[in-house]
Amino acid sequence: SKAKLFDEKTDVKASFKDVAGLEGAKEEVQEIVDFLKNPEKYTSLGGKIPKGALLVGPPGTGKTLLAKAVAGEAKVPFFSLSGSDFVEMFVGVGASRVRDLFKQAKEKSPSIIFIDEIDAIGRARGKSNFSGSNDERENTLNQLLTEMDGFGTNTNVIVLAATNRADVLDKALMRAGRFDRQIYVDLPDVRERKEIFEVHLRPLKIDDSLDTDFLAKQTPGFSGADIANVCNEAALIAARKERESVGKQDFLDAVDRIVGGLEKKNKIIT
Ligand code: ATP
Repeated sequence: SKAKLFDEKTDVKASFKDVAGLEGAKEEVQEIVDFLKNPEKYTSLGGKIPKGALLVGPPGTGKTLLAKAVAGEAKVPFFSLSGSDFVEMFVGVGASRVRDLFKQAKEKSPSIIFIDEIDAIGRARGKSNFSGSNDERENTLNQLLTEMDGFGTNTNVIVLAATNRADVLDKALMRAGRFDRQIYVDLPDVRERKEIFEVHLRPLKIDDSLDTDFLAKQTPGFSGADIANVCNEAALIAARKERESVGKQDFLDAVDRIVGGLEKKNKIIT
């Protein structure tokens, strides 16, 4: 069986209304949506449309979701791959995989390329890593830089990449004409957590005991992904108890369960 080189989605359903909070980040990516939909408007005065932007922030804060929403809002195809698969699974073919990805994205332009965990390939060159061949990773990184430099100004492919470690990235990636924009995607504050709960409560059958202000206050430090998890877990807990709808106590139990999981995860790290 031949491993998939990358993922391509043509009919992306995500939109900005699925992304709660992150007002600043949404405003910045709105501009990218406009570039994709209406490039002539921006190039008519001689300006160059940016080629790439880096989404920077902790795990589970909605970077992938935001990138998908850009493709969904602009109604363009979404090409994605994960930096870590790259390095682990495709030894010897990383560079040709990058070439292939860009070729496809150009053929289907306007389009979005999304590279998750770009740090796996984009770590500063010449620094050791712990996962096998460094030459392989450097070849892949060099190919990525070459592809971005090779874009014409009217290619209309925008590359979004996500990382939680912008500090370890090779500075060459951030140079003008590459990922020269950084967009911060932070953990949600209490008001944003309330909004994220509202998004993830939509598909659930909830009862009147539920209060999103209360839930937001009970979940400091939770990411959007943690909150999505809490909502799903609460629905399963309620179903297990044969309830007609999901209530406050189910959410509290779900929060406890997720906090327990987070504590275990942190113990392993430290
Ligand atoms: P990672 O760095 O781990 O790849 P990420 O920042 O890309 O994480 P996502 O994969 O986008 O995070 O988030 C996972 C899921 O968490 C999303 O599919 C969504 O269900 C939920 N989520 C995260 N952030 C938000 C948000 N701001 N609004 C609504 N849902 C969110």
